Amino acid sequence: MILISACLLGHAVRYDGTGKPLVHPAIDRWREEGRLVTICPELAGGMSVPRPPAEIENGMTGDDVLAGRARVLEITGGDVTAEFVAGARRALDFARENGCTHALLIDGSPSCGSGLIYDGSFSGRKHAGNGVTAALLISAGIEVFSHTEIDRLTVRV
Ligand code: SF4
Repeated sequence: MILISACLLGHAVRYDGTGKPLVHPAIDRWREEGRLVTICPELAGGMSVPRPPAEIENGMTGDDVLAGRARVLEITGGDVTAEFVAGARRALDFARENGCTHALLIDGSPSCGSGLIYDGSFSGRKHAGNGVTAALLISAGIEVFSHTEIDRLTVRV
């Protein structure tokens, strides 16, 4: 089974009330085969739609957040670290309950970003690192792919 970010299936769960559907034949095939399960970690952690954009502070990463070394901050200054960590834990529980061995997550997000995330300056700059959910899934042994790596995932599952 494959865990997929809800916004990649077009669910309107992003901070601005939009989805970001990923169009790819593998998505249709996996859906028909019943191999996809989906969650939005931020909503699972108690956030609502719409919500202010948030980033991990000071160029740090999801691993730093999980270790208590960094916070997730909204552009308005609100500290949403607890919600992001709760959502990540819920996503991991959900993945385990559904037997997910792989995850396909959208890049850039402070939750789902894998490989690249925004740097905390709200200036659009990205740097290498994982979001909070991606980091937790990886630490639990789930193979995480960003949406730009879907072709690589198709040969793994
Ligand atoms: Fe999409 Fe993940 Fe952000 Fe939810 S937490 S809107 S699934 S990127």
